[in-house]
Amino acid sequence: MPEKAGSAAHPKGLYVLFATEMWERFNYYGMRAVLVLFMTKALMFDKVFASNLYGSYTGLIYLTPLLGGYVADRYWGNKRSILAGGIVMAIGEFILFFCGMLYSSNPDLSALLFFSGLGFMIAGNGFFKPNISSLVGQLYAKGDKKTDAAYTIFYMGINVGGAIGPFVCGLVGDTGNPADFKWAFLAGGIGMLLSVITLKLLHNKYVVDPQGKTLGLTPANVPQKFYQPVAMIVGLLLFSLVTIGLIYADAKIFSYLFYLLIACILLIAYIVFSDKSLNSIEKKRVVVIFVVSFFVIFFWSAFEQAGASLTFFAEEQTQRDLGFYLVPTSFFQSLNSIFVVTLAPLFAWLWVKMGRREPASPAKMAMGLFLLALGYLWIAFGVKDVQPGVKVSMIWLTGMYAMHTSGELCLSPIGLSLVNKLAPVKFASLLMAVWFTANAFANKLAGVLSALYPDGKTTYVAGFAITNLYDFFMMFVVMAGIASAILFVLASKLKKMME
Ligand code: GLN
Repeated sequence: MPEKAGSAAHPKGLYVLFATEMWERFNYYGMRAVLVLFMTKALMFDKVFASNLYGSYTGLIYLTPLLGGYVADRYWGNKRSILAGGIVMAIGEFILFFCGMLYSSNPDLSALLFFSGLGFMIAGNGFFKPNISSLVGQLYAKGDKKTDAAYTIFYMGINVGGAIGPFVCGLVGDTGNPADFKWAFLAGGIGMLLSVITLKLLHNKYVVDPQGKTLGLTPANVPQKFYQPVAMIVGLLLFSLVTIGLIYADAKIFSYLFYLLIACILLIAYIVFSDKSLNSIEKKRVVVIFVVSFFVIFFWSAFEQAGASLTFFAEEQTQRDLGFYLVPTSFFQSLNSIFVVTLAPLFAWLWVKMGRREPASPAKMAMGLFLLALGYLWIAFGVKDVQPGVKVSMIWLTGMYAMHTSGELCLSPIGLSLVNKLAPVKFASLLMAVWFTANAFANKLAGVLSALYPDGKTTYVAGFAITNLYDFFMMFVVMAGIASAILFVLASKLKKMME
């Protein structure tokens, strides 16, 4: 049934996409909640290697959507791409399950399975994530005012999954016995299959445009040979082999990912700025996209410590014993999503309340960075003068996540829509790629910064010594604080350039 024009209710398709994304995020964040724990406690990697590998993995996770979006637009359509990507990710989780079964009896095979599982996750996510996000917008007529609300509801779906995933996977996998980690991967894989089944059963009927036409089908005029099952399976297998190679090479051979990402950004900048058909107003807007993307690197690289150094901190330095129950380390990775769901209405209310005084996007992003710095200042204060080995209260980590999430709510939801609004139509996808590439860069950097986690050793960054946790957390205060201050100064100029 087509939705009535102007109807206040959201189309049912939104809830189908909500559930599909929720289960996929359950899988992604559930697995991430135990990832560095599995690496350090079962595979016996040291923290430096585990951190760097975490950065390579999450960095590549944000890079493959460039290809997945491209293939969907030209050959497969959104629906086919999401289903295929979901199955590939589920296979990745099941490979990790076998890795978790074999790590002590057959270490060589389990190392191979580990990189393979990560490679499948990276490949699958590339086809899933960009395509589901783009379907949300297509449910509405162009210019429909409900679109923004739809993305907010969808963001809740992301975070319901992000809250439940680490909780369930932590409960079954993070038990204190490294042999149990496998159950977390199995639970993630089952969640991923539920996502695929939900979409498979409900897509054609409910994921429809305002006229009732099913969305995300294969583009017209694409020869069948491009999307017949054998071609898709072979293509996805080959791509997964490439991603396994990419992550292995970055972690084990040469850390090339930074250079690759910088090259991508420079190439896109060259393509856009050398285009003679863009006028100076359009070019100024594109400059804003690049500047804002640059600043979000400082946000996400500090924020994404959640899955790495902050998990080491939760494991080793946080008093998790409630007397009657030892809180699993992985549960702390649910906090961000729990806070998103609880604090989002507060921020929505705040922006409405501020009315015309609501800050423009660049100022909000500077606020996001400021709140992030504040979160790290809070936890730095919590560990100041605490001797190594002494555990601190959970209140420090919990309070920090509340502040980080407040920062996320200022910065993240507006980022994508800002890029959408500012990009000249001709370069919409390419400039979206800039945003994703910035995220990839930030995640890779997150791993490199997490490797500085003080573990009885002194590390150096820009000439400063990091000898204890206080120094380590202050590094993020300084980084995010400076970025925030500069962005505040630039905000009014950027606002003018956006107009
Ligand atoms: N937590 C959100 C998600 O998983 C946003 C993460 C991000 O943009 N880096 O989709």
